[in-house]
Amino acid sequence: MQIFPCPFCGPRNETEFHFAGELGKVRPDTGKEVNARDWATYLYAQRNEKGLVREVWLHLTCSELFVMERDSLTMDVRASKSLRGDAL
Ligand SMILES: [Zn+2]
Repeated sequence: MQIFPCPFCGPRNETEFHFAGELGKVRPDTGKEVNARDWATYLYAQRNEKGLVREVWLHLTCSELFVMERDSLTMDVRASKSLRGDAL
């Protein structure tokens, strides 16, 4: 069991969180026609990098999205920051 730090609620059990995506992923421009391959890539393809990663997570208890910086090899969480304001 792992403890994740919500920037709003503090340290909580990992079961209270849901992965929401990689930070910096760009949604296809819906002002133009988007083909199925581009949508599938956006929705399902992950870089799955080794080492330090920055991801968006949802804390299910408070319904807040935030950025979590963690090491994907050791699972150590380095930081968590709000998506509000200039936290990025
Ligand atoms: Zn929270």
